[in-house]
Amino acid sequence: MKTSQANLADQSCGSGAACGCATAPETEIPDQGEALSLAVLVIQPSPFCNLDCDYCYLPNRTDTRRMEMPVLEKVMSRVFESGLAGPHPFSLLWHAGEPLAVPLKWYREAFAVIDSFPGGRQMAMHNFQTNGTLLNDEWCDFIKERGIEVGLSLDGPDFIHDAHRKTRKGQGTHAKVMKGLETLRRNEINFGVVAVVSEESLDHPDAIYEFFRDNGIDGLGFNIEEVEGINESSSLDSLENEDRVRGFLRQVYLRNKADGNPIRIREFETAWENILQPRLNQSPDGRYLNAEVEPLGMINVDCFGNFSSFSPELLGQATEKYGSFTFGNLIKDRIFDATANEAFQQVLADIESGNRKCAESCEFYQYCGGASPSNKYYENGTFDSSETRHCRSMVQMPLEIVLEDLEDDLQLTN
Ligand code: SF4
Repeated sequence: MKTSQANLADQSCGSGAACGCATAPETEIPDQGEALSLAVLVIQPSPFCNLDCDYCYLPNRTDTRRMEMPVLEKVMSRVFESGLAGPHPFSLLWHAGEPLAVPLKWYREAFAVIDSFPGGRQMAMHNFQTNGTLLNDEWCDFIKERGIEVGLSLDGPDFIHDAHRKTRKGQGTHAKVMKGLETLRRNEINFGVVAVVSEESLDHPDAIYEFFRDNGIDGLGFNIEEVEGINESSSLDSLENEDRVRGFLRQVYLRNKADGNPIRIREFETAWENILQPRLNQSPDGRYLNAEVEPLGMINVDCFGNFSSFSPELLGQATEKYGSFTFGNLIKDRIFDATANEAFQQVLADIESGNRKCAESCEFYQYCGGASPSNKYYENGTFDSSETRHCRSMVQMPLEIVLEDLEDDLQLTN
């Protein structure tokens, strides 16, 4: 998942210390009433986006249809009746398309619907992942009033950002995003940034680092451009580029360190956390706390009430192996009905089998737990697989960079 506020925590892979002796516990298909817990509810109020970034994985971004309130009401009633909500609050990620392309009035009604459920106001922690181009003071008032977490998509300085993040007329959007950033600042709203790293970025780690540092960004996550959904190839599809990705990440890490770490960089923070607190992401029974691989840990709903679980990137994607990747429609189906669905069972079995492959073959498994199913599917053709370019870049490299640095500091290297 590629948001910032699901943020600096949405990275499905953890990281930690190397040990290849792990085993991946089997997952039972849950029954309603079992002690499962919803971590993230992703709702697409509309598939529409006002921009046309060329690496975007989402289909139907010109479709302006919008979720109707009775659909949202049904979705929320399914969530609350399932017993999955609680005891801890869950993240409600408004992820479209561009969530702010849906009018503010719609959200005012939607939040009132959610608040009307017992515990709805306390349980749902709202998040917007936005391209920032539509932000204004009115949106900021609402964001502040409702304590919504904001993630801003911004790839770096204009020549990097505008290479891919364009309008439908092909114009760059950097200036508009910076205006949105200033609007957030003026309204004293904290936000994190997610920057996609594409081929153009790799030769400019210094410019990108300095841009974020000089703009006072203190929470940053990198998403290495991925093959996913309708983005069928990545500008980083080569071994040679993998070395460049490593060089990029290392240089950003070293620059940040030299400046006293003014930016919390998600990938390195995760690596550090896992080094300092091994098994941070594991429950006492050895299971990894990763909502993307937990059955019903993540529920993803489109504007018609169709829903999936596991990686939200798969919602609405036509896949050869698993069909449309829809496990039901919440207008007529209960959430737990999905567990009887053949596609759900196949997906879960393959994810589990893929995780066992990771456990058997990867020295990073103790920190990672098997990583993102959608990356396995889009890179390897099946969930029943292990290593991906994505996990090498987002799990293995940051951990290696931090460990190398630690070894240097402790003078453990020759
Ligand atoms: S192969 Fe990749 S996904 Fe699997 S455990 Fe290792 S780092 Fe994680």
